[in-house]
Order: sequence, then C-alpha cells, then structure tokens
Amino acid sequence: MRIIIVSNRLPIAVTETEGKLDLKPSVGGLVSGLNAYLDSLELSSFAGADHLWIGWPGGTIRERNKKELEARALAEFKAQPVFISEKTMDKFYHGFSNKTIWSLFHYFPAYTSYDEDFWTEYVHVNELFCQAVLQAYRPGDVIWIHDYHLMLLPALLRRDLPDASIGFFLHIPFPSFEIFRLLPARWRAEILEGLLGADLIGFHTHDYTQYFLRCVLRILGHEQNVGQVMAGGRIIRADTFPMGIDFTRYQHAADDLEIQEERDRLRSILGDSRVILSVDRLDFTKGILNRLQGYETFLRDNPHWHGRVVLIMVVVPSRTGVERYQIMKRQIDELVGKINGKYSSLNWTPVIYQYKSLSFKPLTALYGVADVALVTPLRDGMNLVAKEYVAARPDRTGVLILSELAGVAKELGEAVIINPNHIEEITEALRTALEMPVPEQIRRNTIMQTRLKRYNVVRWADDFLIRLRELKDEQRVFNARFLSRHLRDRIVSDFRDSRRSLLLLDYDGTLSKFAEDPLLVPPSADVIDMLRRLREGGTDVVIISGRDRQTLQVWFGMLDLGLVAEHGVWIRPVGNEWNLVIRVTADWKPLVIPLMEMYCDQLPGSFIEEKEYGVSWHYRKADPEPAAQRAKELIDDLVNLTANAQIQVLQGAKVVEVKSAGVSKGTAAAWFLARGEYDFILAAGDDWTDEDLFSAVPASAYTLKVGATQSHARFHLRGVPDVIALLRDLADQSPAQVAPSQVLGKLA
Ligand code: UDP
Repeated sequence: MRIIIVSNRLPIAVTETEGKLDLKPSVGGLVSGLNAYLDSLELSSFAGADHLWIGWPGGTIRERNKKELEARALAEFKAQPVFISEKTMDKFYHGFSNKTIWSLFHYFPAYTSYDEDFWTEYVHVNELFCQAVLQAYRPGDVIWIHDYHLMLLPALLRRDLPDASIGFFLHIPFPSFEIFRLLPARWRAEILEGLLGADLIGFHTHDYTQYFLRCVLRILGHEQNVGQVMAGGRIIRADTFPMGIDFTRYQHAADDLEIQEERDRLRSILGDSRVILSVDRLDFTKGILNRLQGYETFLRDNPHWHGRVVLIMVVVPSRTGVERYQIMKRQIDELVGKINGKYSSLNWTPVIYQYKSLSFKPLTALYGVADVALVTPLRDGMNLVAKEYVAARPDRTGVLILSELAGVAKELGEAVIINPNHIEEITEALRTALEMPVPEQIRRNTIMQTRLKRYNVVRWADDFLIRLRELKDEQRVFNARFLSRHLRDRIVSDFRDSRRSLLLLDYDGTLSKFAEDPLLVPPSADVIDMLRRLREGGTDVVIISGRDRQTLQVWFGMLDLGLVAEHGVWIRPVGNEWNLVIRVTADWKPLVIPLMEMYCDQLPGSFIEEKEYGVSWHYRKADPEPAAQRAKELIDDLVNLTANAQIQVLQGAKVVEVKSAGVSKGTAAAWFLARGEYDFILAAGDDWTDEDLFSAVPASAYTLKVGATQSHARFHLRGVPDVIALLRDLADQSPAQVAPSQVLGKLA
C-alpha cells in the first residue's frame, strides 16, 4: 500500500542555476508535520506503507531539465512534480486560489475577486493534477489531497477511480453559508461537488465541518446524518481533525546545544527586558497591524513598562509580488517606525522588527526567550505558531495570548483569549500576561502541553487515515446491499423462464426522478416504450402510486396496465374503469387543508396537492432547513387534529401526506395478486409507503428498494437509472410467455 500525498507545493525547493538543478527540502507547517508522520510510518497504523508526494516543484522548470528533476525528485524525495507554466500558475495560484478562495474563506469579501479567467485556470490546474495522480496511481493506494488549491481534484479523480480511497483535508477555515454563497452559483456548486468526490473530508474545527455540511445542504440539497452525506450513491463523511505539531521536536529543542547558544546570545542582547514575540507570514489575515496598535496603546498606558519590555516581531515575506501585500508591508514598516520613533531611548528599542524567514533553530530559540507569544490573527484556519510556542517551553513558563478567531483557540482555551478587532483587549491581555504569576503560567501550560503531546501531528494524520480506512469498510458493507450483476442476471433468467409474471411498480422515485414540481415529471418516452414492450411480451404490469387517478390516467391510460392511485384508494384493472376499493370519506379535508395552508404561508415554496381522498403538503422547493422543522411541526399538528378521523399521516420524500386509513399499497398489491397465478413477481419502490407493498408479496418475490435506507425489500438499487436498466433487460427478453394476460381485467 502507498499513501499518495497531493498538495499544491512539493516538500522541496528547486532552483536552476547556470542550467544545473539544485533540490533542497522546503519548510512550512504542512510539510514538516506530514514529514514527521511519514518518517514515523513504521510506528503508525500503516506500518509497511510506502509514500509518494505529488505537487508543483515551485517554479517553471526548463524543458531539458524536466526528466532529470522527475528522476531526482523520485529518488531523493519520493516526490513527483507537476509541471505548470508561470502564466497558468499566476492565474491559478495568485488568482483564484489566493485572490478568491483565500480572501473569501478568511472572511475578507471586500478583498475577493470574481474573475472568470482565474476560475478557468483553477479548473485547468486541478485537471493537470488529476492527470498526474492517475499516472502514478496503483490499485490499493490511498490518495490524500491537501488544501484549498485542489478542491475540484477529488471529484475529477473519482470519475476514473470509482473505488479509490480518497481523503481531502482543508487547512484554512471553511466559511459560513452567508460568506460561501458570495461565490457565483456555478463555482460554489462545483467546489462542493469537487470536495464530495472524496470519501473523507477533514477540517480543523467542528464549526468549519458544520459550515461545510450546511453549504452542502443548502446549495446541493444533500442532507447529512451525523456528518455523513449520501451523494452519487456513495457514503461520504465530513469530520473534524485539528492538526497537531511534532510536539517532542519542539519540546526537546531546548536540549539542543546550538539552540541553547542562540538563546543565551539573545538573552545577553536583551538584558533583563521581558520579551513579547510575534511571528507570522505577511498576510492581511494575521492581524499584524492590530497587534502593533495593541502594543502601542500598551506603551502609552503603561509608562512603567518603558525600557523593560520589547516586542520581537518576525514577519516572513509572503506573496511579495502582490500589491495588497506590498501596501500592508509599508503600513507595518510605518507603524513600527512610529512606535520606535516615539518611545525609543538610547538604550531601549521597543520593537525589534525582522522581515525574513527563520529556520527551525533560530525560531525555537526565540520561542525559548519569549515571555509572551502574541498571536492575533483576524482569521486563521489553525495557527501552528501558537502550538509550537507552548510546546517549546519545557519549564512550562510563558504566556500565550491568542485570538479567538484562530482555529487553534478551540484547543488552547487556557491561553489568554482576545478578540483582535478590539485593540483595548490586546492592550489589557499584554498587561495580564506580563503580570501573570509563574505558578499560573505553569498551570495553564501544563494543561495545554498535555493536550498537544497527546494529539500531535502523528496522531492527527493517523486518525485521518484510520477513519478513511474504516469508511472504506463501511462503504463495502453498504455496497453489498445493492443488487449485484450476478443477482441481476438471475432475476432476468427467472423472468425469461417464467410462465406468468407480475411487476408491481411505484412511480415517483422509482420510474421517475423527483422534480421540484411533481406535475413536471411525466414518464419518459423510454419508460412508456418499455412498459408497452413488457405488456406485449405477456407480463402483467401494475403502477402503484400515491398520485391522483386523473394524472395516472393521462400518463398511463393508453397502456394496457393495472393502475393504483392515492396509495390504494383507487384501482383501475386492465381495460376497466377506476374503482374505489373500500368505502372511504373525505369529510376530514376541511380540517386538514386550512392547517396545511397556514404552513404554506409560513414556508415559501411549499404547496398543497389535493386528491379526492388525500391531501399532500410538498416542500421540495422550499428552503431545506426551515422546511424540515416545519414538516415535523405539521405532522404533530395533524396527528392531534385528526386523532378521531379514519386517516393516516405519512412522511414521504419531502412531502407530508394525509390519506384514508384502511388502504395501502399493500392492500392494492394483494388485490392484483389474488387475481392471477404468478411464478415471477417483482415489486419496486423507493419510500416507506412501498414497505406495505414489499410485505404484501410472497417471500419468493423479488422486492427492490430504490436507495440505501433500511427496508423489508430483499435488494437495493442505487437509483432510477438502475430500475430502468433492469426493466429494459426484462423487456428485451423474447416473450416466452403466453399471450397478453387479461386476468387483471377481471373484477371481483
Ligand atoms: N515558520 C518558520 N519560519 C519563520 C516563521 C514561521 O518556519 O520564520 C513556520 C512555523 O514554525 C509554522 C509555520 O511556519 O510551522 C506557520 O504556520 P501557521 O499555521 O502558524 O501559519 P500559516 O503561515 O500556515 O498561515
């Protein structure tokens, strides 16, 4: 087995100097985290597994160097490069990934661009990645896709690899529906469908998972059940896995001689000053300006701290060519200059500012000397710096000030939590942190360290992959419910060999897909032709529906079929008139209809369908969230209101139905069964009114449930196309049977 990691960037930095390639390992939170996991695979639940990393090598590689890079990346780093031109990368990475998704998903709609060209390149690059993965894929591999650059990739891969194990993890926030819906309709639907190509979709926090599921419901209409979604006949899960860090590496960094020396050097420079540390990539989401303003106010309000505290601010250059980032860099430079200009003295500089990236050792040395870590993003998917700071304090001293808008705040609640939009809170938090007694610091950090140690990056990755493996097992059990090729062949051969056969078929959801307006789904020409051919072959066919008899008459009247309307209230035998099966009344309707009308007023998009002896309240067209709630309330009201009436209240597929008691699809089926001697019976239906039908037929009958929900039926079919394919196979059989039966026409 192999784990294929797919991410925008490969974990290597490639440079071409004088035509020669240089490959070095690259740094970053995701890379170091996943590498820690891959290095410890032997100790994980996937011992013996190999791995391959697929991604962009970080620059445009000359044609003549591509082969060499491929060979060396594979041999030295188990990596496979995806070559993408600079022009494409610009629109895909700087364009759609960062100017659209990054800004919108971090709640900066004003910074979001909606450019069709960017979108086209986003689709194109996802397709390039798809080709690369397909080329590398071997049966049994597990594909784990990372982050917002590749949200279409899971569904693209699923087209060619229907059974593959595909996981996806989003490292940035997933926004609430109101923000996500700002994306144009086509893009937002394709992004969600893209993600649903995966089996397991992981997020850092419970909120992100819930926001995603809510968008899936409201935009694609798929409901969830404890994080599980059914789409395309597959079980898909969305779940929460907060990414951890390599805790031991940070904790033991203090023992490293080089790091100790660096720490001592820093200490001697800083003297007795208390140290506040701030480390981020340059990004508008990180709240760097807010932090500086908070510090400025702190100095203004607390002169007794002048000369006794310094803010070390490391800003890592990022997206340097982008104008917005250049402006922000200027603003930071100016504010640092302003604070230092105002408060510095000959022997004190309040802000020590470095605009560069630090490697592990100098960074952990800084974590070691910092009395306070100031982490104030305006939005952050997780924020690993906060976790690394806590882990890098083996004596458990130090105070973390943390923005509640970072995903990590859900795990590190013992930090001093602030809202970064409120500058006074940052100021106040700095005072609290600098004055916090050491035992209190140790108490808080002990709790946080225990958590970080337990749920480290290896646990995170292992948990995700174990959950993915379990899900594949669940899918296998689930798939076993569906009619296999072998069983389907047996049904067809039993049908061919039978003397007299009967098909009892539900209509909506069985012979026809649901539509928003139930009147808009007449049977297709294909279905009509198939039913005609079945009849001509001598098969008795009965359509058993909840619809009214007029509609069934219009749709099927010209065919030589048995028809059942209103869930068994009306029966039309072959070649005969419609008959009422039992004496039923509709005197309850004046009670029910006004109540349903009230619900229609409350829920736009819902409407009433009135039949002779039944009334239905449809809510397929309505907003799904309030609709589900209203349906429950309506059922409650109906049950109370009609306690003494001879009626039944049923919950169907996006419909609440009220019908006369005493008849059902089962009683209707029994009526037809009593009128012929059949050696082949097949009953098919999709909702729970069809369960009466399944119970009424003999045990030897083939009962088929459309969909995966629990049923008395012997077998399941995935959807309407499967029903139609099966019926077509039956219709294609040469009629070995007697001439068209008329038994269904004989009235009792
Ligand atoms: N980092 C680094 N050198 C630096 C600053 C940061 O290697 O000079 C690392 C840091 O250790 C952390 C990662 O970059 O692992 C930043 O991850 P985080 O989740 O905090 O922010 P992101 O940049 O991913 O939004």
